[in-house]
Amino acid sequence: MSSDLTDVQGEYDWVDALGNFFASPPADVPPEVLEAFAVIQNHGQVLPPRLFYEVVEQSSIAISITDNQANILYVNRAFQNLTGYCSDELWGENESILSYKGTPKTIYRELWTSILSGKSWNGMLVNKRKDGSRYLAEVTVAPVSCARTEAHYFLGMHRDVTALHNLKNKVHNQKELIESVVDHAPMAIALLDMEGKVVLDNRAYKTLMADLGGREPAELILQSANSIISEDFKTACAKGYSFEHQEVRLFQGSGREARWFSCSANWIKEFDLRAESYFDSDRQSGLLVVANEITRQKREQEQARINAVQALMMEQSATLNMQETLSGAIFQMQGPLNMIEAAAEMLKRQEPAQAHLCNTLKQALDAGHQAVETLRASIPGEVSEATGPVNINDVVRDVLNVMAARLLAEGVVVDCRPTESLPFITGQAGKLRALVKYLLDNAIDALREPGNWQREFMIITKNNNDERIELWVQDMGPGLATELRFKAFEPFFSNWNSRRGHSGMGLTMAQQIAVEYGGEVEVDTEYSNGCRIKVSIPVDGGQQ
Ligand code: FAD
Repeated sequence: MSSDLTDVQGEYDWVDALGNFFASPPADVPPEVLEAFAVIQNHGQVLPPRLFYEVVEQSSIAISITDNQANILYVNRAFQNLTGYCSDELWGENESILSYKGTPKTIYRELWTSILSGKSWNGMLVNKRKDGSRYLAEVTVAPVSCARTEAHYFLGMHRDVTALHNLKNKVHNQKELIESVVDHAPMAIALLDMEGKVVLDNRAYKTLMADLGGREPAELILQSANSIISEDFKTACAKGYSFEHQEVRLFQGSGREARWFSCSANWIKEFDLRAESYFDSDRQSGLLVVANEITRQKREQEQARINAVQALMMEQSATLNMQETLSGAIFQMQGPLNMIEAAAEMLKRQEPAQAHLCNTLKQALDAGHQAVETLRASIPGEVSEATGPVNINDVVRDVLNVMAARLLAEGVVVDCRPTESLPFITGQAGKLRALVKYLLDNAIDALREPGNWQREFMIITKNNNDERIELWVQDMGPGLATELRFKAFEPFFSNWNSRRGHSGMGLTMAQQIAVEYGGEVEVDTEYSNGCRIKVSIPVDGGQQ
């Protein structure tokens, strides 16, 4: 076959045919081909066949012209490069020389039905090169007729889209993989657009949203993390504000335990897919919010902390018991010693002849004082503890946790009403826990007194203008008679009917601790349903 189409045809029928064809080309003719022909047509001149030939020959699309049986009359250079055949090898061959038998017969049937009815066909075919290698071809076949000779031709245009197909599949596979990984990830993941609207989320996120009663977890996380992002999305994005590993507590509604999450929020940039933004470096942004549940770890940490608090409180309690016992012994010894001292003085003054007896009493007195001093010296010191910011609500919660077993055993219900925003005071948490425990022990003891008392007490914390913190413990027990409201704070005073080995030092010790913090403990005279003890501590009265 000659490489010049004009020689093959002998006439210029194909020029007419192609001229008509490109006057109103079908929609699926490749744009590169249309563009090339548009250039020559725009001139509005009689087109020299050589020009047509050059355009077709130079086209990057594989172009072939066949007779009405698909026998090849002409192929351009791109066709030869793509298939590996030279034009001489193809002349007179059917286009089926390219057919790889993996293309379903139905596709060819469609192709032929379409072109035989005068319509062009566009679709994908798996083609085989001369060397047997395969490629995916995007093919357009169009019927082309010559009005003058009424000859019918087919114009074939195809290109290798294997790489594009691979890329598409690769992207698709990666997308599937990423979506599947993200969807099955145990952490809740959501992507927010610049309006703060969730545009993508995974299964864990949807489940969390359902657990939160339909509230948007990302919104709650951004609010709880105290992040500026929730206030001003656009500024936060422009300044790149983000956070990592921020612990956030989400509340699930009444009766259900709050859950803890370790959260992060990071800005991600997406490429703008529009052609016009090819040269723009600006990229669309989105906020990726990830929440990893750590409730179990938090619970374990909390349990370990409570165990440590319990151990510390037990140690403190043992020390305080020892202090109470020894102080009690000293207090009880002091009485007889005072009496001996008075007797010795009297004897010395009234019976000077009894100097010997007086000496003996003096010796006994000295021995007594020495014994008191020995006892005093053996009073154990306080358990050492670091000073730091303490929140009374946390103190109350810790004490209730430590006393949980006792409260359960006694069948006592606690109605705890903490004030949310309670300022911190500087002090020793252990000492303040001891204070609260003295009051709660008394409240439980009050409910155990003979009588038909409601087995419930209430704990209230209050914030007095950020100046004083108040703690009220009020029970529904027998209460304290008016005349005993001050006496109750004296050492070793106990008015319980059913005495349970208490030394009567509880309120004294509680008072002592409150005083150390510049505060006070009092029995509320206005409360008549039982006993209400009010502790008041100045915020700046804590220990430095
Ligand atoms: P065949 O047995 O030849 O044909 C399979 C089916 O195609 C038949 O059952 C029948 O329904 C239909 N068919 C085939 N020839 C005719 C006909 N003359 N008239 C009516 N129906 C017919 N094929 C490719 O695989 N790759 C190409 O790149 C390609 N380019 C083409 C370009 C042009 C311009 C034309 C006209 C056709 C092209 N074909 C191409 C189609 C090709 O001619 C074959 O039809 C196809 O390759 C199937 O060949 P086969 O030997 O596998 O099966």
